Amino acid sequence: MQMMHRGLKLFAATAIALSVSACSMLQDSGVSYEQDKTYKLTVLHTNDHHGRFWQDRKGRWGMAARMTLVNQIREEVAAEGGNVLLLSGGDINTGVPESDLQDAEPDFLGMNMLGYDAMAVGNHEFDNPRAILEQQEEWANFPFLSANIIDEKTGEPVFNPYTTFEFDGLRVAVMGLTTTDTPKQTSPESVEGLEFKSPVDVASKLVPELEEKADIIIASTHMGHYTDGNFGVNAPGDVTLARKVDGIDLIVGGHSQDPLFEPDQQNGTYIVQAHEWGKYVGRADFEFKNGELKLVDYKLIPVNPKNAEVKIAQDEKMLALLKPFQDKGSKLVEVNVGSIDERLMGERKEVRYFPTNAGILLGKAFMEKTGADFATMNGGGIRASIDAGDISYKDVLTVLPFGNTVTTVEMNGQEVMDYLAVVATKPVKSGAFAHFAGAEMVIDGDKVSDVKIGGEAIDLGKTYKMAILSFSAGGGDNYPNLKTKPGFVDTGFVDADVLREYVENHSPLKVAEFEPKGVIRK
Ligand SMILES: [Zn+2]
Repeated sequence: MQMMHRGLKLFAATAIALSVSACSMLQDSGVSYEQDKTYKLTVLHTNDHHGRFWQDRKGRWGMAARMTLVNQIREEVAAEGGNVLLLSGGDINTGVPESDLQDAEPDFLGMNMLGYDAMAVGNHEFDNPRAILEQQEEWANFPFLSANIIDEKTGEPVFNPYTTFEFDGLRVAVMGLTTTDTPKQTSPESVEGLEFKSPVDVASKLVPELEEKADIIIASTHMGHYTDGNFGVNAPGDVTLARKVDGIDLIVGGHSQDPLFEPDQQNGTYIVQAHEWGKYVGRADFEFKNGELKLVDYKLIPVNPKNAEVKIAQDEKMLALLKPFQDKGSKLVEVNVGSIDERLMGERKEVRYFPTNAGILLGKAFMEKTGADFATMNGGGIRASIDAGDISYKDVLTVLPFGNTVTTVEMNGQEVMDYLAVVATKPVKSGAFAHFAGAEMVIDGDKVSDVKIGGEAIDLGKTYKMAILSFSAGGGDNYPNLKTKPGFVDTGFVDADVLREYVENHSPLKVAEFEPKGVIRK
């Protein structure tokens, strides 16, 4: 309901921008743009923001510097008589505690100030309960777009499928599409009752409708850019969409978090993506004349990267908006999340030498969140101890400061044996030294035997689900790379958040329940 309302509101706002002279022209030919006029349209875009409203500790990125950059471009484009559309490829949520703890309010208010025109709904928008997503739609004064997320009860799209803009007679439609991987990458409750339809099927029907209404068709997607359409274990992405659906002029993407320095061109469609976290603003300068759209220039503009020669100043108005949120976020991080009766052993001299209660606790937290049968945790990933007594969220973040995500992979018993032969035999004194929860075994030199999963002897033909951090799953510490395996899922849940949730749900924690046992080293 509320989305329909916003859609109407937006449509009304753009209708006002429509010039009166253009309006009356060429009604019968079905177009409203002026013949022989060159229209300049600049599309700016970002994606996979993930809570980075504030610049990082090294002064990189952040919405205040982005604001300065976007303002400069707007002035430049206006001086040339052009217009700007600012789009997001989605995934505003999840990744920075100061944002997560405030339901990304600063991020959405910052997007308002930046003047975002529309945003694709990303999978991480479903990390929170649906009520929070609805609250975020209220905060935003731009529409959340997705044509392929359908309410199972009504058969209707849950979000606006598209929105339209009009610039002196030039009509632009922007539709939204969301990866069908969303249900397996987020919490089941928040996608309950929703059907994620094939973006190709949905767009095949929608694009011909939009062609009646618009001169330029843009898809703002959160589906991923996979080179040459090789999407592997992921759902099909932007390249597949462009190849299978005719008539899309531009795809502003996200999800795979690629820096695409040159637009990919597929079947007459340009595909762009601006890496992640506001590290870049993508800028596509188009010219439109007599029905022909031409990309004149494209670049990814870095926003205060590591070795920037000239720093972009932070916009004062944006800083004034965001500073109170950053201050509040810093306090919220100190919040008490539970307690423990004895010390959780996370010192370097412990976790790289023998299995500790910290490793087991982490493994159990990952298993509970993902429903995995067992978990593997690299000792080097455990960065601090937690002393007996109260546990703050900050304590949790010192144990897991890297913001890895929890991933799962399905393997049959034989594959588990092969995997353990590599991982369980990693030497002590190394970050690779592995802790296991839910699995027992005997390790003798480079041999692993007597493996039990969930207390039962391993069945070589049975399928098991293992939880592990994204770092290790990607081949960190020379672990086998699992990301290319069928049955691999990156849940997108940040490790510290998973641990926090476990601590909240099980406090007061008793260290005795996380005593490492069952892994015998000879
Ligand atoms: Zn995503």
